[in-house]
Amino acid sequence: MADQTYDVIVVGGGNAALCAALSAKEQGASVLVLERAPEETRGGNSHYTGGGFRIVHHGADDIKAVVPDLTDEEIAKTDFGEYSRDQYFDDLFSITQYYIDPDLAEVIVDNSFDTVQWLRSQGVRFLANYGRQAFNHKGKFKFFGGVVIYANGGGAGLIESEYECAAKKGIDVRYKTRAIELLEDDEGVAGVRVTVGRKKEDIHAKAVVLASGGFEANREMRTKYLGPGFDQAKVRGTRYNTGDGIQMALDIGAQSYGQWSGCHSVAWERYAPTFGDPNEPHAGYRHSYPFSIMVNSEGKRFLDEGADFRNYTYAKYGRVVLQQPGSFAWQVFDSQVTHLLRDEYKLRGATKVKADTLEELCDKMQDVDFQNFLATVKEYNAAVKRDVTFDPNIKDGRCTEGLAIDKTNWANPIEEPPFEAYSVGCGITFTFGGLKIDTTTRVQDIEDLEIPGLYAAGELVGGLYYNNYPGSTGLMAGSVFGRIAGREAGKFALAK
Ligand SMILES: Cc1cc2nc3c(=O)[nH]c(=O)nc-3n(C[C@H](O)[C@H](O)[C@H](O)COP(=O)(O)OP(=O)(O)OC[C@H]3O[C@@H](n4cnc5c(N)ncnc54)[C@H](O)[C@@H]3O)c2cc1C
Repeated sequence: MADQTYDVIVVGGGNAALCAALSAKEQGASVLVLERAPEETRGGNSHYTGGGFRIVHHGADDIKAVVPDLTDEEIAKTDFGEYSRDQYFDDLFSITQYYIDPDLAEVIVDNSFDTVQWLRSQGVRFLANYGRQAFNHKGKFKFFGGVVIYANGGGAGLIESEYECAAKKGIDVRYKTRAIELLEDDEGVAGVRVTVGRKKEDIHAKAVVLASGGFEANREMRTKYLGPGFDQAKVRGTRYNTGDGIQMALDIGAQSYGQWSGCHSVAWERYAPTFGDPNEPHAGYRHSYPFSIMVNSEGKRFLDEGADFRNYTYAKYGRVVLQQPGSFAWQVFDSQVTHLLRDEYKLRGATKVKADTLEELCDKMQDVDFQNFLATVKEYNAAVKRDVTFDPNIKDGRCTEGLAIDKTNWANPIEEPPFEAYSVGCGITFTFGGLKIDTTTRVQDIEDLEIPGLYAAGELVGGLYYNNYPGSTGLMAGSVFGRIAGREAGKFALAK
């Protein structure tokens, strides 16, 4: 067993971990990052992201402060809107059905803008998200919601910049090194036991930040906590997030917190590989369902595809797909909307069928009840309020009326051939249950007392999301809490 000592050990190698490491280093601490993955697949789920960040902003001046490369011409043709502190709170509260820990919510919202500026100071470059979050509306690009910016190069670019900065600042990183246990002495946490291959090693530190993600890649824990069927879900991201950090903390008395039966899961390519492909992280996306009808094997609709913008519904619809007979569904489009489909629908590997008649389409849609499907489309088409104009850029209110499950927006009748259908299953993104932290990220025990020397950030923090999740909060929350965790762990270690 090697005897090494650092001020701060950060467990994990994704965005939250790197923010913690950079921030601890800023305090003057010696820092070691333990990444379970090999260097080529480092970066956890953060690598797989589109790099979107949800921030408070008040329009063009704020966005220009984060994206200084924006030209006057771009600003003139863009309506960035505004995303106020109150709107951010409203989204976090209403989307989690008011379960989110209000103190933690406040920390995310109030530090969002400042933390993005801090990331910039570390070398991360941001761009305005014209492709994904803005529509050309009456000659102007109009943004909606709080996700106006994304990291240059998406998640891969974000992670690349963070590791580059860590290297420049002299932060040590050990790859293929799996943390398995927290070491303790009489004063609190004193380091981490790791395995390298099958060999165990102890690494000592004055403080430890856990940032090793949730348990979404652990089939057994998924089934145990999320419920039956989740063993069959496809993992959208990394294979390394198996709940180790959570378990290590629970083993020394940390409090479990948040919605352990909840997760972020989406409609995802039905025959996607078991884990995400780091080289094609977005291939499985099937996010254009607001313009579709979704039917199950019984040929019936089972959710409101147009309840809200994709950002506000996608994270809860994976579970609903999983709950359908056979755990799959089909998204059905006609030619009036296929030009709106995201690029991933065109990639090789999409389970797609195309036909000139609905009968022929259904014949090709594996395992779908033929008569029910035709009846569903007929009934749906008849219920569309055709006097309301279809507009993909806004919540257009073009709904259906009188169906058992109405569609609230973007109700386009399925009537113009050729027709296309795409098969989806459930893709799990991350889990909601985890550890309890206070507003300075100190991990709490069952009596709400901190465990000295132990901090946490990122996906393994419980109490943030319940039932649903507002898109692009994950990187933001991970950055906010990661930065705080590094700062607090650094200060704690240096004062010891
Ligand atoms: C396909 C996809 C797209 C997404 N898009 C977005 C987006 O655009 N915006 C957004 O905000 N969020 C997005 N998310 C969610 C986002 O990925 C997470 O909220 C965020 O990346 C979590 O960061 P993290 O650092 O907590 O975890 P991760 O980035 O997953 O990092 C966890 C790290 O811990 C390591 N690890 C695990 N166990 C151990 C161990 N025992 N020892 C050492 N290391 C260990 C892993 O290898 C990994 O490096 C997306 C997720 C996916 C999968």
